[in-house]
Amino acid sequence: MAASSILRTDRRRQPNTPNSRSVGVPRTSAGQLGASYYSSGPLYRFEEPQTPFKVLILGGSYAGLSAALNLVDFCHGRKNRFSIDEADNGTGKVIPVQVTIVDPRDGFYHLIGQPLALSSQKFAEAFWTKYTDLAALQTPEIRTVQGSIETVDCASKTATITTAKGAIHESYDYLITATGLQREYPSAPRSLKREKYLAETAENLANVRDASKGVVVIGGGAVGIEIAAEINMLHPQIPVTLVHSRTRLLSSESLPDEFAARALEILHENKISTILGARVIDISEPQQITPDEHPQYTLTLSTGQTLVTSHVINAVSRFTPTAPSYLPNPESICDDQGYIRIEPTLQFVDDGSVPNAADHYAAGDVARWTGIKRAGAAMHQGHYAARNIHQKMMSRVYGTPPEFVELAEVEPGMGLALGKSAVGYFPSMGLQSGEETRELFFQGDLGFMICYKWMQLGTPMPKAVGVEKEAEKMIEKVVETEVEVEKVQI
Ligand SMILES: Cc1cc2nc3c(=O)[nH]c(=O)nc-3n(C[C@H](O)[C@H](O)[C@H](O)COP(=O)(O)OP(=O)(O)OC[C@H]3O[C@@H](n4cnc5c(N)ncnc54)[C@H](O)[C@@H]3O)c2cc1C
Repeated sequence: MAASSILRTDRRRQPNTPNSRSVGVPRTSAGQLGASYYSSGPLYRFEEPQTPFKVLILGGSYAGLSAALNLVDFCHGRKNRFSIDEADNGTGKVIPVQVTIVDPRDGFYHLIGQPLALSSQKFAEAFWTKYTDLAALQTPEIRTVQGSIETVDCASKTATITTAKGAIHESYDYLITATGLQREYPSAPRSLKREKYLAETAENLANVRDASKGVVVIGGGAVGIEIAAEINMLHPQIPVTLVHSRTRLLSSESLPDEFAARALEILHENKISTILGARVIDISEPQQITPDEHPQYTLTLSTGQTLVTSHVINAVSRFTPTAPSYLPNPESICDDQGYIRIEPTLQFVDDGSVPNAADHYAAGDVARWTGIKRAGAAMHQGHYAARNIHQKMMSRVYGTPPEFVELAEVEPGMGLALGKSAVGYFPSMGLQSGEETRELFFQGDLGFMICYKWMQLGTPMPKAVGVEKEAEKMIEKVVETEVEVEKVQI
């Protein structure tokens, strides 16, 4: 079966990897990449084995959690969870590690599912899981801190985190930043706590359900299209109109015209009205026509047309990169749009302007890389960052020559959920659409279980290899002792 679009990565530069899945077997670079790829510090740590490496991860979403969980797998000496190499049994070598994940939210949020969560309380409840309820994170090597990164000092390798209880100063050996993009509602939740978020989605749901004069969604980018389609699927009695300022949907995505045209066709097949090439220039104050009815709004478009509707969802994509707000010299670390410049190994670009650049990594939407920003790419990058950091640790602790993996260039590709249907385009598969495409790309929950299972969030972290053996030995001993006791009693 082909891989889901979420997990799909461009494999053009990974000729030796199997095609069945898109995340997994890494392409190793030429082995030792030279001194600048190593972090500073003592080479062999086995003289002080009890000192864990401290890894600070900023952002606990697709990229951050993938980095944290794969890193602990590696450090446990086990096969890591994203490995699809059947011959891979892990290194069998344990490395002490302490991972700290910082996030202002109190849990993992399945952001891809936002268009569905806005129209369904059942899915909203499923898509936000508190970190304390994620089985995979309940291991001594992982600590989560609810807070926001304020500053990073790359020279001293310390970070300042703001929490509800005050500032925390955290030192680290390696840092992975995975803080994504700051997205505005409705593209992302406003709330940082699960309970508040559920109240937020419930309010939107009530507004949609009561929309006797229909719902207008403004913005024909991926988010606006998906929100319109999910409302239409879950509340077919509510008329939905999508308004977009350009004459082509998805006008800011570098995808083939046929992709946008097919998406438009599917919207029309589902009786979603579209108004293209018109900007909304005014939205009236809510007008209460009768006491029993939901208030209504009048929208004035740049074409002079007016629309009367019960509920307006402004899904014009607005986002800002997060890194410039906490990095010390963003003008050299980030590009002109605020994305962190990374090497193919995911380290910050080492041009001499950033101290310890080789110990700082960026993964996911926060980083500058080719291709459309996607969760699959974010998980893949988190995995690679973890793998490369682990290689450095192995080199320091066991003296093994590191073999680093590198990201391949990615061409634009996307899967777009359209209610019961979907349209997808990736260079390797071309354009496809329909119910099967939706099943393949998103299944029935906008890809929630695909991501949840891929990251193994619901599975308790297995023990490190040695610990497992020790535990087995202890169990054997206990059993032997019990047998002895029984013999004595007999
Ligand atoms: C509505 C919508 C639909 C989408 N659909 C798809 C899809 O179908 N398929 C697909 O592959 N991709 C899709 N995407 C894109 C995908 O969601 C992103 O590419 C993905 O979320 C990136 O993951 P990330 O871990 O890099 O960042 P994010 O998921 O954005 O996570 C960043 C994390 O960092 C935290 N953070 C932010 N600031 C700070 C700070 N100062 N300190 C500490 N932590 C911080 C945030 O709270 C968040 O938890 C969609 C996006 C949206 C908005």
